[in-house]
Amino acid sequence: MSSSAQPSVRTYQNYINGQWVPSGSGKTFPVYDPSTEEIIAQVAASESIDVERAVKAARAAFDSGPWAKITAQDRGRILFKLVDKVRQNASMLAEIECRNTGKPIVEAEYDIADVATCFEYYGGLANKVMGNVMPVPANALSFTMREPVGVAGQIIPWNYPLMMAAWKLAPAIAAGCACILKPAEQTPLTALEFANWFEEAGLPPGAVNIINGYGETCGAALVAHPGVDKIAFTGSAVVGKIIVKSAADTLKRVTLELGGKSPNIFFADADWEAAVDGALFGVFINQGEVCSAGSRILVEKKIYSKFVEAMTEKAKRIKLGPPLERETKMGPLVSKEQYDRVSSYLEVGRKEAKVAIGGGRPKQFGKGFYVEPTIFYDVDNSARISREEIFGPVASVIPFEDEGAAIRIANDTPYGLAGAVWTRDIYKAFRVVKSLRAGIIWVNHMQPTYVEAPWGGYKQSGFGRELGPWGLEEYLETKQVYVNLDETPIGWY
Ligand code: NDP
Repeated sequence: MSSSAQPSVRTYQNYINGQWVPSGSGKTFPVYDPSTEEIIAQVAASESIDVERAVKAARAAFDSGPWAKITAQDRGRILFKLVDKVRQNASMLAEIECRNTGKPIVEAEYDIADVATCFEYYGGLANKVMGNVMPVPANALSFTMREPVGVAGQIIPWNYPLMMAAWKLAPAIAAGCACILKPAEQTPLTALEFANWFEEAGLPPGAVNIINGYGETCGAALVAHPGVDKIAFTGSAVVGKIIVKSAADTLKRVTLELGGKSPNIFFADADWEAAVDGALFGVFINQGEVCSAGSRILVEKKIYSKFVEAMTEKAKRIKLGPPLERETKMGPLVSKEQYDRVSSYLEVGRKEAKVAIGGGRPKQFGKGFYVEPTIFYDVDNSARISREEIFGPVASVIPFEDEGAAIRIANDTPYGLAGAVWTRDIYKAFRVVKSLRAGIIWVNHMQPTYVEAPWGGYKQSGFGRELGPWGLEEYLETKQVYVNLDETPIGWY
């Protein structure tokens, strides 16, 4: 059982070596509903002693347990069983995700559907990993074997909790790695519910472990541990840099999916209605707590004033509300800490630019970490609100003169996760696609994400790719094998 039977505040433990166990210290930390600010769960607070325990279990599973001998086909079957469990329990998972993150229920339902699709995709890929035979001279045979990296430590953020867990666990299981997942302290609940099905799906003890706790204690101990072969991290660039430095001591493999300040570029010839919608959707979906949020909205001067007006008018209709209500389009931010952080940027923004709409806390809510959808305009690209990731419902609208200027402004950022361009001119669209220095570019849309296509950033948005075959590659090593076919001695000595 993952939880003790308390009426409303459940207690969740760690999942280590196929068992639910309390943290070594016996300590827990509270998890909140950000719309009511009430505690909804207590979760085991792990420290290095728990990391030690999880690494021991994962190492044993990977080095000598049944997991070390399982076939690729059986790993695929386990993933398909997890798909069934997610689909059978989709409404329960969506409701927990919604309560825990504050995201609207309709968006949480999409997330859970994507979680199932992700496990399904990698279930299909598990037994399609193959090596190559190299054309070496006739007296030898040379081929490659693809092998799992080993024990993978996986650290994820709070904005898409179970989806981020799926992006990490599914390819790692397909590859045959043993996993230790550390969910974000704010949102561990769906990953823990998910672990209830591991045994039934066929995962042997130690193959996948989930430990909960704070980044500075639990996460840092996982990164530093010599028994961990790889760290897959999604989170902020600040923490990404700390992780790279710490991982250098043991030279473990590191992949980083970090933040962004993505440009959403609108030319005058774009389809008007679609463009206005796309500007709002690109930045306000999931309350703006999206790594690829189109938070810099670049608009051609010819349509600039009219575009800001149209965005503002439409933004007035965005319904903020309790996350569980189906009409809600924006819920509260995930935590008090995030609310304070975004609020401090609203203050900065009011000094740096003009406010078209929003800029504060909506008056109708007595509780909850709600922030109005906010549009700043006449923003200079050197402003802090243009350069720093806010991770909330805050748009900076920046005018540009022509295509060259748009590209210059778009690329003038330390980040390079994503970008979008809106135009009916196919020549211009592809010139911009080629010029943008970012890992994901959308044309006449923003945000669609498919498990088949790679996800990851250029520049300070990280390195490595998730999803598609690229995501699987990150969990594989390549072994080169040389076989001598010539019986004559080397004859060197
Ligand atoms: P953080 O970087 O603060 O935290 C991410 C995870 O790292 C959490 O689990 C956190 O633990 C843990 N962590 C914190 N400090 C350390 C440490 N010293 N060592 C090891 N682990 C640590 O990011 P947020 O959770 O605030 O998430 C928001 C960020 O994530 C944004 O910058 C966003 O852009 C990025 N992101 C990127 C995505 C992408 O695909 N590129 C997707 C989604 C988000 P704790 O539980 O204590 O917070």
